[in-house]
Amino acid sequence: MPLRGTEMTRRELGQLALGAWFSGSVSAEAASASSNAPDIVRWRADFPALDQTVNGHPLAYLDSAATTQRPAAVLAALLDYYRHDNANPGATLHALARRAYEQYEGARRTLAAFINADPDEVVWVRGTTEGINLVASAWARPRLRPGDELLLSVAEHASNLLPWRLVAEQTGATVRYLDVDDEGRVRLDDLDRKLSERTRLVSFSHVSNVAGYINPAAEICARARRAGTHVLIDAAQSAPHVPLDVRSLGCDFLVFSGHKMLGPMGVGVLWGRRELLEDMSPYQAGSNMAHEVGLTSQEFEHAARKFGAGTPNVSGPVGLAAAVQYLGNQNRSAIERHEAELTQYGLERLADVPGLRLLGPSSVTQRLPVFSFVLAEHSPAEVLQHLDTRGIAIRSGDLSALPLLKRFGVSAASRASCYLYTHTADLDRLAAALRELTPSHGKESR
Ligand code: PLP
Repeated sequence: MPLRGTEMTRRELGQLALGAWFSGSVSAEAASASSNAPDIVRWRADFPALDQTVNGHPLAYLDSAATTQRPAAVLAALLDYYRHDNANPGATLHALARRAYEQYEGARRTLAAFINADPDEVVWVRGTTEGINLVASAWARPRLRPGDELLLSVAEHASNLLPWRLVAEQTGATVRYLDVDDEGRVRLDDLDRKLSERTRLVSFSHVSNVAGYINPAAEICARARRAGTHVLIDAAQSAPHVPLDVRSLGCDFLVFSGHKMLGPMGVGVLWGRRELLEDMSPYQAGSNMAHEVGLTSQEFEHAARKFGAGTPNVSGPVGLAAAVQYLGNQNRSAIERHEAELTQYGLERLADVPGLRLLGPSSVTQRLPVFSFVLAEHSPAEVLQHLDTRGIAIRSGDLSALPLLKRFGVSAASRASCYLYTHTADLDRLAAALRELTPSHGKESR
């Protein structure tokens, strides 16, 4: 056992490893990743966390819909910020404070450009959950009246369900649910049926975290707006994969999390139409969101800046902007092609596993490489434990979307999810490990 005092903490070990990474002492895989290497080899080499063994096997990370890994460029941006520029930001203060301010506001401009928005409409939040809660509290609660309706779908993540149920309880409004088809797609005919003059907001996930289907967001927004209602898009699962343009989508609010798109945890974006943000009261109050604060009066900041109470999380936006820049430096159509190939490949591999039932669309189009499934005679928890022993990371449980699982006739499921760094070999290993659990396994060779 190492002696107390000489034992390295996990953090110190991590710093050492990160230092080695930045000084160019990288893995064999990374070293071989020249600019002429195939995209997937270069992408994998950009993610230090992929280069490890788990339970004696190379890691196959298939849990990107829960959180992605971070590229070295994002880790470097975080380290660089704390090493050189860290200060409580201020546009007119000392040099470090000005640099921190410029990094923070630069990140806001980067994220605004990412979704074709005005920087004044970008509210920094902790993630999708906080963004939705902010809209529920600061926009919906003061406006809803008994008899008003909120329209969600049965495919929503708990974070796009509970905030609305709470605000409905507080105001006397009613939450109604759009049905999905048997593969988890929002049903537009049901949308038309349920939209009425009582509907005050439609809130839906652009991509379900269970089914992986890309809902026709612009079409849903257009129908909602024709009915005279507002729309919030939960883009937690789409922002990492689908180009987003808030103007052409035609929504009123859009929310996503940094950690699902290569950025740090604890930062995300709420975008809102400027006139709506201007019209809303603050969600939290304190420093940095008001001027002329006296004992009996104050002047609130405008638009998004009204929602930034207290010392901000600067490193989060800096890391998220680095993630957006990293994605921008890749060939986006190559990523799209790769993800389409992963979708096709994953669907084929999983179709070969006896007793496996896929939840979600079995077709390749309009969907992401997210595979939710149940396996006959094995609980999702057993599936997860078995795959973990093989170094394969997936997610099992209610996937924070129990109503959708129930719509599929189950109460728990397993989910394997991919991103640009996923290799088809990861999906081969997934399918092979799942086959080990099936009753016929090993019989062929006897
Ligand atoms: N909405 C969807 C569709 C999600 O998949 C998730 C997270 O898995 C969330 C909302 C909540 O995101 P966060 O936990 O980052 O706030």
